Amino acid sequence: DLINDIRDMSKIEAGKHELDKELLSVDEIVRECLDLMSEQALQSNVTLKAELPSAPFSVYADRRAIKQILLNIVSNAVKFTPVNGSVVVRARAKERQCVLAVSDTGVGIPADQIYRLGNPFVQLRNNAGATGKGTGLGLALVRALSEMHGGTFKIESVEGHGTTVTVTIPLGSKVAMAA
Ligand code: ADP
Repeated sequence: DLINDIRDMSKIEAGKHELDKELLSVDEIVRECLDLMSEQALQSNVTLKAELPSAPFSVYADRRAIKQILLNIVSNAVKFTPVNGSVVVRARAKERQCVLAVSDTGVGIPADQIYRLGNPFVQLRNNAGATGKGTGLGLALVRALSEMHGGTFKIESVEGHGTTVTVTIPLGSKVAMAA
């Protein structure tokens, strides 16, 4: 993981990471990611579910990047949520953006530390037990991949209560033509 993350991050920083965009079903990607994470959630007794709009929608984006974005955010959410907690992945289309928001009922992030996240190799000390397990590159990749698509990345958190990480990705002109 560490080597892959470092490789991806350095490619992005060198401007050598190219996006291979195609029309993607957001439902399908969300479900795939939940499938991949379900075992980890089960093991830590965390409920993992998706809230998807009744009308499925598509985004014109890089499949691997969108999966990487979602997997990194969801695996953090599961990792930093104690037993009996829950993680919800919400996807919707709003103002020509695909909005992906992952909320957890976990340990949260101190207000004065949130700004540090999204930069490479930042890991916080407060997250008892979970530190040291990751690479400190997950959120940096999430942010970089979102921004490469022209999207945004935001973290909201209340320490001791939970965190919501929200990424937006422009739906893209191909989607506009299809609509
Ligand atoms: P790591 O591989 O260490 O998880 P990330 O870049 O993904 O690296 O995350 C950086 C740090 O941000 C984590 O070490 C943790 O301190 C904090 N963090 C990320 N997501 C969450 C979350 N959902 N709840 C609490 N803390 C989080």
